[in-house]
Amino acid sequence: MRQVQKKSTDKAKKKKLKSLGRITVTAGPTIEPIDPIRYITNHSTGRMGYEIARAALNAGFQVTLISGPVNLKSPQKADLVKVQTACEMRSKVIENAKKSECLIMTAAVSDFRVQSPSSEKIKKKDKLTLKLLKNPDILKQVADMKDLIRIGFALETKEPLKYAFRKLRDKKLDFIVVNSKSGSVDPFGPGKKEYTIITKTGEISAYKGISKRQIAELIIFKVTKEHENRKK
Ligand code: C5P
Repeated sequence: MRQVQKKSTDKAKKKKLKSLGRITVTAGPTIEPIDPIRYITNHSTGRMGYEIARAALNAGFQVTLISGPVNLKSPQKADLVKVQTACEMRSKVIENAKKSECLIMTAAVSDFRVQSPSSEKIKKKDKLTLKLLKNPDILKQVADMKDLIRIGFALETKEPLKYAFRKLRDKKLDFIVVNSKSGSVDPFGPGKKEYTIITKTGEISAYKGISKRQIAELIIFKVTKEHENRKK
């Protein structure tokens, strides 16, 4: 009897997963090699993306977590795709976004890559000039993907809202989450943070003294609502 009951619960769970669909989340930094030993990168612990992956799984979504190098344990049920460079992240995002209802880009993608990384370790010298190329904007490349809910993150040291509005428009996002980096608030790592969410219809909501776990749950709540609205 118990077994029959368990089977039907498993079936119900699977059905729920199927109806909610998949969220692709990116997390962490990308790293761009200079030579086999050195690289350029951005600050990012990856914690935000990993919390979002966890919250999405708890809400009943399937999750693809595309992650740059971080020191975090991936949620067990997430499909983890490890990447290093922005170009690798781009191809994995494009491949997975096609199978997803929603893309959440928390990754701190490096804006530049070294034009010709050396295959050997560069020896010490008084001066080294690196030629950098602009990396592709991953969100822009999926901006016209029909039916994909797109969420971006923004971190600026000045005029965050002005730049966030620009990114929201340019990258055709459904909403953007602005990290505050001001005074005592450090957006990196654990602890209480400040966020502002701006939607494509111009609604602005500010959150203070909130953890990454809490903002992750709020983001997934908003995604679930948007997803339900689109299905109507
Ligand atoms: O770097 P920027 O402030 O433009 O990042 C805003 C959003 O765009 C973030 O969600 C980030 O993950 C995404 N991004 C991207 N491709 C880049 C740079 C940023 O998708 N090359």
